[in-house]
Amino acid sequence: MSRFLQAEIDLKALINNFYLIKSIIKRIKSHTKIIAIVKADAYGHGAVEVSKVLEKHQVDYLGVAFYEEALTLREANIKCPILLLFDREIEGVFKYNLTPVIFELEQAKELSKYAQKKGKNISAHLKIETGMGRLGLHGDIFKQIDTILKMPNIRIEGIMSHLSNAEDPLWSSEQIGKLKEIKNYLTNLGISPFFHIANSTGLFLKNAIFDAVRPGIMLYGYSNNTEGLKTCMSLKTKLLDIRKLPKNMPISYGKTYITKRDSLIGVVPIGYADGYFRRISNRGFMLLRGKKVPVIGTVCMDLTMIDLTDLEGVKVGDEVIIMGESDAEKITAWDIAHWADTIPYEVLTSLGSKAKKKYIYGGEE
Ligand SMILES: *Cc1c(COP(=O)(O)O)cnc(C)c1O
Repeated sequence: MSRFLQAEIDLKALINNFYLIKSIIKRIKSHTKIIAIVKADAYGHGAVEVSKVLEKHQVDYLGVAFYEEALTLREANIKCPILLLFDREIEGVFKYNLTPVIFELEQAKELSKYAQKKGKNISAHLKIETGMGRLGLHGDIFKQIDTILKMPNIRIEGIMSHLSNAEDPLWSSEQIGKLKEIKNYLTNLGISPFFHIANSTGLFLKNAIFDAVRPGIMLYGYSNNTEGLKTCMSLKTKLLDIRKLPKNMPISYGKTYITKRDSLIGVVPIGYADGYFRRISNRGFMLLRGKKVPVIGTVCMDLTMIDLTDLEGVKVGDEVIIMGESDAEKITAWDIAHWADTIPYEVLTSLGSKAKKKYIYGGEE
């Protein structure tokens, strides 16, 4: 019997979240476009399947980090505009009709040069440094924008920046203010590309809603303050073994757990090689037969132990829910993130990238 580790991806939940995002931004600005962020294999949910569903529901744009991700989407016959966030690829953006984000002057020169050579035009977005300290035009930004605007065969379709701390409205307003200055500058020149800065958390800052928004994590069901979101990913496996052990037995590497009583210990076929963080050792929980059971001892590469002593009637092969719901109990990426000292983003990308995926479609799919 092969190891069973399955991520169930609920695409109905994705659609629900997509329309919820639409309704939130519509209340602020009616014609705001959505650039759905599907980088890192759609945060571990599978970029092709997620993008297909979003395309079907008329998403305006998809956003990926790197060229290879965009290529995968085009090869899957996804026709939707794709924003390439963090890549200097030149040839491929022409070949596959991608929209590059220009974050540096030299990159713009190369795009323009190639476009002229091929006798083609390219639409691009400009990224502006406003306080993220990562990528984007910085220094004399206006001068650089003037230079790029004069470059042949490049059309500036959009201007963007990225919030570094969207939870902080005051700091975000400073970032937003800098982007607004550029908007005013270009408006005076009679140029009106579409502007965007908001990620998921930024959706709750009214002044961060320009002409487009770039939600990522919220599409997959996570946000601090949104009623009605549904989580898309759950993760399940099956109990590999059950062992009856006496009091005072050490469990797993480093003897970090010693049984305190006669115990029933479950062995679960998931470990840090599957993205189940070692930090969860002696801190986390799993769900079995509708009950929360504690992770005991150190998480191994492929295995993790749980304490089943208080459960009745457990059997080898029983379903173990690592993330998801069972009866009244629930474990979310937030919970796992707390145990592992990280954020739901890392939990979803780590767990989602390793498990086999099963997609749940809605009735009309
Ligand atoms: C990842 C990313 C997003 C989406 O962020 P969320 O917090 O997941 O909504 C938006 N814009 C850029 C540039 C990103 O890198």
